[in-house]
Amino acid sequence: MSIETGNIAVQTENIFPIIKKFLYSDHEIFLRELVANAVDATQKLRKLSSMGEIGGELGDTNIRISIDKEAGTLTISDRGIGMSGDEVKRYINQVALSSASEFLDKYKGLEDGKSIIGHFGLGFYSAFMVADQVALVTRSAREGHDAVRWTCDGSPQFTLEVVEKETRGTDVILYINEENKEFLEDNRIQTLLDKYCKFLPVPIQFGESVTKEKDEAGNETEVTAPRIINNPNPAWTKKPAELTDEDYTNFYRELYPYAEVPMFWIHLNVDYPFNLTGILYFPRIKKSYEIQKNKIHLYSNQVFVTDEVNAVVPEWLTLLHGVIDSPDIPLNVSRSYLQSDQNVKKINSYITKKVAEKLEELFKKDRAAFEEKWENINVIIKYGMLSDEKFFERGEKFCLLQNTEKKFFTLDEYKAHIAPAQEDKNKQVIALYTNNVTDHHVYVDAAINKGYDVLEIDNVIDNHFISFIEQKMTGVQFKRVDADTIDQLIDKDEKIESVLSDTEQTSVKELFEQVVDANAGTVVLTPMSPNDQPVTITKPEFMRRMKEMSHLNGMDFAASMPDQFNLVINTNHPVVNKMLQLDETHRLNTARQLHDLALLSQGMLKGTALTEFVKRSVEQMQ
Ligand code: ADP
Repeated sequence: MSIETGNIAVQTENIFPIIKKFLYSDHEIFLRELVANAVDATQKLRKLSSMGEIGGELGDTNIRISIDKEAGTLTISDRGIGMSGDEVKRYINQVALSSASEFLDKYKGLEDGKSIIGHFGLGFYSAFMVADQVALVTRSAREGHDAVRWTCDGSPQFTLEVVEKETRGTDVILYINEENKEFLEDNRIQTLLDKYCKFLPVPIQFGESVTKEKDEAGNETEVTAPRIINNPNPAWTKKPAELTDEDYTNFYRELYPYAEVPMFWIHLNVDYPFNLTGILYFPRIKKSYEIQKNKIHLYSNQVFVTDEVNAVVPEWLTLLHGVIDSPDIPLNVSRSYLQSDQNVKKINSYITKKVAEKLEELFKKDRAAFEEKWENINVIIKYGMLSDEKFFERGEKFCLLQNTEKKFFTLDEYKAHIAPAQEDKNKQVIALYTNNVTDHHVYVDAAINKGYDVLEIDNVIDNHFISFIEQKMTGVQFKRVDADTIDQLIDKDEKIESVLSDTEQTSVKELFEQVVDANAGTVVLTPMSPNDQPVTITKPEFMRRMKEMSHLNGMDFAASMPDQFNLVINTNHPVVNKMLQLDETHRLNTARQLHDLALLSQGMLKGTALTEFVKRSVEQMQ
């Protein structure tokens, strides 16, 4: 038996120290790289066999992963194509290493080298991140080649010798080094296999499963069998026609065992101008803050790459769950580069288009069912429309508004619905809304009695969304029901005369200015119907939105600012008229009482002010 030794062809002198240093933060990927190689070798074998280039039965082609604690080794074995001695020299000694050193040359100086390299398959040599010594024992599937054993201890020297090996394929044996003993733990390896290898296309055996079986005599015996840890045929690789709804939801559970069943899904499948498959699920999101961090998993030919897909998928689509598999996404480059990559851009717009098409289809096919889903899908749709112009154009057709009667309208439908009654003197259609039907009951009631329609909104995102569609829909403005008194809410220029003289009005105003907190409230006199409330609180739309926006943008002082409001006095109300006839003290008392009642009806009377109000009311009864 001849033993050959030699030097590995390296341009960079000390490649191993560099590999170790560079990859340290992400050294667990060695397992992904080695198992992926084993998968490649198995698939090559299947291909050649189907082409008739390799005869005979293929038999067992499972990949096996095993730990030998005593020897301190981790072994990855495949029954794939294998290599001849010459091939080992060519592929392992030269090609692999030269591509590795080329890569390192390119990225050596870069600060973020670590993050780049994590996504770069350094392939076989990543084994040296965790091993002092690596042995590769391989027998080619082709006739007429001896099996060989190659070893290397991390220096540029290797040995190659002819050995006996019964089965076709390759064993890669890692002599795990001192710092990486964790990779000799079953649990650690199991976790890594779950993360990177869960959907690899070749069955992978690791460990054993134990089941209890009863024999004919009724005695229980334990039966151990090799455990397959992956699902080689995940749903996204199949044709949609082959899959039932149950298959889709089952696969979802495989991805996210603890999540709620998704609303619906989109099966992606394109092979030109780029290659991409996958399934995207719409999770149930009722409130913006419920957004789940179940991320989309990115695969490349069923090898897990990352769940940080932000560069590949538009941000709003990261709210979806599921899997994207594309060998065309460059994985060996930085994120900023990814964002400008042409393929990634095309993938982006393809996914956006697919999502829009699916939603449109659901809407058109069964509007009632779509409306039922609205509560759970509106956050994603609105977020998409806010952040993506293209999606906005499509979303306009199926984006819904809901009124207090729980009826749904598209944007266009709604404008047409309210235009006859809700156009103001400037030909603006005023859409009214509430974000809390209970708190705004008085206002909603008044609006509906006047023949107006009121929309119900309740998502954090709606604040943004309303301002946004105001810019997009010409001639439509949104106002919260408490933004003004009912007459002024939609200003139709119908003037009601005030029964009070100018001097009387001045004294009413001065009176209320004595009782209102000048930091928060402004007294406004408005002649209204005598049947309307004598004193009302309104919160002018513009000021309120400003405050909400600053709050959303993280300006915390905004939250502590008191709510600015108008104290609107109905100068035609009998009580207001009667006040003027009272003496100084009673006048002031009545003003105080009216002011407090208005605040009370809005839940704004608190603390000492509330206690005093109660005391005063009781005294008056006495
Ligand atoms: P890459 O897989 O990116 O080509 P690697 O360094 O991982 O780079 O592997 C280099 C080459 O060695 C592979 O292209 C393949 O030809 C060969 N090789 C590696 N592992 C195996 C294996 N388990 N069975 C057969 N050939 C292998």
